Amino acid sequence: MKILVLNCGSSSLKYQFIDMDTEKVIAKGLCERIGIDGSQLTHKVPGKEDFEEITPMPTHQTAVELVMKALTDKEHGVISDVSEISAVGHRVLHGGNKYSDPVIVNDDVKKVIRECFDLGPLHNPANLMGIEACEKAMPGTPNVAVFDTGFGMAMEPKAYMYAIPYEYYEKYHIRRYGFHGTSHKFVSNETIKFGNLPEGHRKVIVCHLGNGASISASIDGKCVDTSMGLTPLEGLIMGTRSGDVDPAVVQFIADHENISVDDVLTILNKKSGILGLSGISSDFRDVLQADAEGNERAKLANAAFRYRVVKYIGAYVAAMNGVDAITFTAGFGENNVDSRVMICDALSYLGIKIDKEANKERGKNMCISTPDSKVKVFVIPTNEELSIARDTLSLIK
Ligand code: ADP
Repeated sequence: MKILVLNCGSSSLKYQFIDMDTEKVIAKGLCERIGIDGSQLTHKVPGKEDFEEITPMPTHQTAVELVMKALTDKEHGVISDVSEISAVGHRVLHGGNKYSDPVIVNDDVKKVIRECFDLGPLHNPANLMGIEACEKAMPGTPNVAVFDTGFGMAMEPKAYMYAIPYEYYEKYHIRRYGFHGTSHKFVSNETIKFGNLPEGHRKVIVCHLGNGASISASIDGKCVDTSMGLTPLEGLIMGTRSGDVDPAVVQFIADHENISVDDVLTILNKKSGILGLSGISSDFRDVLQADAEGNERAKLANAAFRYRVVKYIGAYVAAMNGVDAITFTAGFGENNVDSRVMICDALSYLGIKIDKEANKERGKNMCISTPDSKVKVFVIPTNEELSIARDTLSLIK
């Protein structure tokens, strides 16, 4: 069976087409600048030259049709007819209080995705457009929604409730949801499998450190806590997001800069994090480079980022009354050898010891702790698309 995985953003659409017998990617690509001048499709097939096409894409519908065309094209296509697509798995940001597990899309699922527009204003509308475009382009092919909030929905009320008047939870479902759920689910399960963690020793902390960053604590693959909240703004310091701040900061900046709460939230989402602290870039590589060259604010941004990660790990060890494994994943977590060592050195009280040689490798599942380390430390590349494809397959089988 072959499954198409779609990840729709407000002006982009990423796709992977996966053969589920081998779990290999047969084709993947990206539509950029949907609804903006200069829309472009980039389509990649392993072993072939990339295919690029600059062509108007006024809507996600056009983008989906172009993807279908690319997949079935005589030269750079990989199937002869769209009927070879068994199902489409969609990454959906927010399933609200109603949906957590992956589900075959029907009218009620679409209604809930729509009801959650205000909880995921950038993503949920795009996710729904992607689903509706596939319904039109491939009538009868099942669409499956896999929610980014799914993993966090397993949290207990004591972990997900904000200590604000209870009526706001009842009226508006204001609670902590957590995001990057597909990644945390995939990586925590891979940690258990790859690390051969026996039953009763499956307390896992996953550090998903990318441009967006979050951390989760899980036991037996079930989420105990995770750092993002009602929206992805809470928790770790990220590329452009502040992570945790005292909510009073919002009012203070609004008053002193004479701007609206909306404007302050945009600043906290898009101009803060390591970009805001360093004043250099939201890309960790640039900020690490500047740090190495002696830039003081870059040094501060990196130190603050690592400190927040260490602080959350400490909190999650306490929340689970112990930890068996800590796993790093995503762009920074998978690639930044030095920061992993610095983070783990700050956790020496847990009896963590890093094998500096093993830590140098990249691009595969690795154990980077020494055999006598009290806590195992892993690097496991995340694969959200494969996780969505597996969930999709299990529903349509
Ligand atoms: P997202 O999916 O949230 O955009 P990614 O998981 O792709 O994020 O991670 C992107 C981030 O990873 C970027 O900030 C990039 O700088 C960082 N990154 C990639 N390689 C390295 C590296 N070798 N050292 C430090 N950071 C890296």
